[in-house]
Amino acid sequence: MLTIIIPCYNEEEAIPLFFEAVEAQKSEMDTSFEYIFVNDGSKDQTLKEIRRLVAQFDYVHFIDFSRNFGKEAAMYAGLQNASGEFVTIMDVDLQDPPELLPQMLKMLEANSELDCVGTRRVTRDGESATRSFLARTFYKLMDKISDAQLVDGARDFRMMRRQMVDAILSLTEYNRFSKGLFTWVGFKTEYLTYRNRERIAGQTSWSLKQLFNYSVQGITDFSDLPLSIATYMGMVSCIVAILSIIVIVLRTLIFGDPTDGWPSLASIILLLGGIQLLCIGIIGKYVGKIYLETKNRPIYIIKDTDIK
Ligand code: UDP
Ligand code: MG
Repeated sequence: MLTIIIPCYNEEEAIPLFFEAVEAQKSEMDTSFEYIFVNDGSKDQTLKEIRRLVAQFDYVHFIDFSRNFGKEAAMYAGLQNASGEFVTIMDVDLQDPPELLPQMLKMLEANSELDCVGTRRVTRDGESATRSFLARTFYKLMDKISDAQLVDGARDFRMMRRQMVDAILSLTEYNRFSKGLFTWVGFKTEYLTYRNRERIAGQTSWSLKQLFNYSVQGITDFSDLPLSIATYMGMVSCIVAILSIIVIVLRTLIFGDPTDGWPSLASIILLLGGIQLLCIGIIGKYVGKIYLETKNRPIYIIKDTDIK
């Protein structure tokens, strides 16, 4: 069986279109299906649209969150409730092409060595230039500093074998950064590429600020390099300080001591103060994460579901 997990947030228009597009691919796939729509606290008629499908088809299920918990939480809830041997996660806005599903399934069935077929966008058509540039920079940076190697343009849209799903479920952290988790668990993954598509209806719920926060989350979840920045900067300022002490002592011995130079002193104090605050801020980010993790709160809360 193939389980399709669909996180939905304010997607009333897209749901029927999505369902139709995926159903159209079924004839090419030799497997039974299960849909799990996760309503992530939508404020529109999303739940009603989902319930309509649930009432009509017995292989369509839903999970309704008590509020908006974010796509990461929705994906986790879907994975926890998926019963298929193969599991795939799809956006409901048809930016993840359903035409790829038959090919993904074929690849997994043909090659038992392969655990996952992922997808990546090779273009970012229709996305603003700043957004693309920032995204690219983020991937390059992550590649350098973290222990989870991200793939540029890789989507959450992927088909996984049960074993890999169980591995992801075993990572129960509260701060979830799936792009990193998917690669962190390992397993053999091949990527299909496709050209970017515009969403079919509605609009993206990601602002530039949210994307920025998301990338900071990715970095702090998978790298402790920022924590070392304090050490590096401390070392550099020590070296600079020792050099200047030597220069100043020699200068005073040779040329005497005309007491000026408080502007340079003030700049040095300001610079060091700034560096210290920056480092405290970085440490604070990590402490905040530890704080949230130790509270051990559930990743999501279900208000209603038809899955037993
Ligand atoms: N989504 C969600 N919860 C959120 C935000 C988004 O479940 O808080 C879902 C959304 O309904 C969609 C998918 O995540 O199915 C991707 O969202 P979106 O299309 O807004 O992101 P983008 O494609 O622009 O990265
Ligand atoms: Mg989208």
